[in-house]
Amino acid sequence: MADAELGFTQSLWSATAEEAPKTGALSGITNAGVVIVGAGFTSLSAALHLVEAGQSVVVVESQKIGWGASGRNGGQVNLAFDVLPSGIKAHFGKKRGDRVLKLIDGACDLVFELIERHTIKCAHRRVSYIRGAYGKRGLAEVER
Ligand SMILES: Cc1cc2nc3c(=O)[nH]c(=O)nc-3n(C[C@H](O)[C@H](O)[C@H](O)COP(=O)(O)OP(=O)(O)OC[C@H]3O[C@@H](n4cnc5c(N)ncnc54)[C@H](O)[C@@H]3O)c2cc1C
Repeated sequence: MADAELGFTQSLWSATAEEAPKTGALSGITNAGVVIVGAGFTSLSAALHLVEAGQSVVVVESQKIGWGASGRNGGQVNLAFDVLPSGIKAHFGKKRGDRVLKLIDGACDLVFELIERHTIKCAHRRVSYIRGAYGKRGLAEVER
């Protein structure tokens, strides 16, 4: 079995996820308001929100649902973001930076809202987490 296949079949996702819905290959002509490429967390969330907003959506995936990083990650829902808020504002400017920060700030809540709204059976737990820091500089960075 190839490494990529092993990484998926031996993942936490594969060991614990509900069976994926049956899907089929596209054939003939399919019409949709929006076509989304890839069936990971990002695209499936986008698809869900578009459908809720009344759009018709087709998701195309070349492998399996969750095949990418979404099916291989540690399953932690936290705000471990590598860039400081000041770095985000420096990159996006104040107005867009503030919107990005608001988006990040609400991301964990959104995950748990989706789990509850759609009764997703994923053994979720909302707990605290420890963010370690090395040395005074590391501590100052975490505090910022
Ligand atoms: C080892 C690891 C651990 C991680 N741990 C965490 C964690 O604990 N918490 C956390 O929040 N984040 C974690 N992450 C990050 C998180 O998993 C990713 O940010 C997230 O899964 C990205 O989702 P995505 O939908 O954007 O991409 P992906 O899940 O990678 O989905 C992309 C999909 O697109 C498909 N695709 C690509 N090209 C095409 C094409 N041309 N046609 C059709 N389909 C295509 C792929 O097959 C894939 O299924 C981790 C990542 C890794 C790698």
